[in-house]
Amino acid sequence: MRRSGRRNSIRIGGVAAVLILVAAAFGVAAATAHRAVAAEATAMRVTGDAKATEFELQLDQGVTAEVFTLANPYRVIVDLPNVSFTLPEAAGHKARGLVKAFRYGLFAESKARVVIDTKGPVRVAKAYMDRVPSSSGIVLKIRLEPMEAAAFGSGTGASRAAEPPSAVANAAPAPKKDASHKPVIVIDPGHGGIDPGATGVNSMAEKSIVLDVGRKLADTLNATGRYVVKLTRSSDVFVSLDERLSFSQKASADLFVSLHADAIEERVFAESVRGATVYTLSERATDEQARKMAEKENASDLLAGLDSRDIQADDQVRGILFDLMRRETANFSADFSNVLAKRLGKTIAMSRVPQRSAAFKVLKQPHSPSVLIELGYMSNTEDQRQMATAEWQTNVAEAITAAIDAYFTKRTAEHP
Ligand code: ZN
Repeated sequence: MRRSGRRNSIRIGGVAAVLILVAAAFGVAAATAHRAVAAEATAMRVTGDAKATEFELQLDQGVTAEVFTLANPYRVIVDLPNVSFTLPEAAGHKARGLVKAFRYGLFAESKARVVIDTKGPVRVAKAYMDRVPSSSGIVLKIRLEPMEAAAFGSGTGASRAAEPPSAVANAAPAPKKDASHKPVIVIDPGHGGIDPGATGVNSMAEKSIVLDVGRKLADTLNATGRYVVKLTRSSDVFVSLDERLSFSQKASADLFVSLHADAIEERVFAESVRGATVYTLSERATDEQARKMAEKENASDLLAGLDSRDIQADDQVRGILFDLMRRETANFSADFSNVLAKRLGKTIAMSRVPQRSAAFKVLKQPHSPSVLIELGYMSNTEDQRQMATAEWQTNVAEAITAAIDAYFTKRTAEHP
């Protein structure tokens, strides 16, 4: 009854890599290609111990799944077609056996992914599908066993295909626009899909709040009739940092605004640390908190299961490009940060140091002034309550729009 295919053909650096294709177990996957949603995930479970841990994903019907491993950090990736996850909030995210944590969601349009963080190098000892008795449902079972780091190597790197490096394309300067053109504003709601960002006290996700604010900001900017407005994402889908950068470059952005909401780990400070912060790019962070913030946001690609080797290699190239960044762009970013912090301060609570800078990857844009706004703290009860309200979101959208208006009015006056 059960059928599973195994492929060990991908080898990198002479290291045997694990890549297993779980074939459509019961002949239903072929028919699902035309459907918007291929299957529904209804339950997830982790059982076992440090010797062998079993990860189970229950689906309402069979699909084709691809399972592979990655290092730095050690992860097991399960790629699926357009599976929708109708699981209870925080369903079994607890650590168990070899599994440290896991997350799931859309990885791209019509592509879902589960990322399992493991405590160390593991091998996929078995991956197969079983029928759920007396239903059309199936269970995808993945058995993980520990292995030596040396034997693991750097994993399969199968995700390399997921994202071709686009650094060279990014190097080209934005085409010059004639003065009559409307400024292009790229709004970048952070995270999305498989990457929820920070999670608040009642499991509200940063990705949802920043998408809501991003959409409202697009509406208020469009209402002025003065701008061409583009969003890097307008649904709950994962977009890698490179894709956000190349989106901005292709759109010839005149201003790039990334939206985020922070959280602090230390529960004791959670209720005393709140407010918004406007970040600009600098290789050296203004302070330790800013440095940590950039590190956390830059980890988005890793959280979603992109291969760290690609991310690092790409960063080196971009680092060189970044050195060539026109001083002018940095000055414009600083100008906008000043205007924005002032306008936001009239509307919402600002953090203790409302303007900071650090090495945020998403701000490494030679062609466009860019800022990243941490709208508030998901870890603070009051911030989170406010950020979730439509009223607060509308006020923030209007404040940012006012700042953008002021910024472009000044720029046009200085460079007619
Ligand atoms: Zn974020």
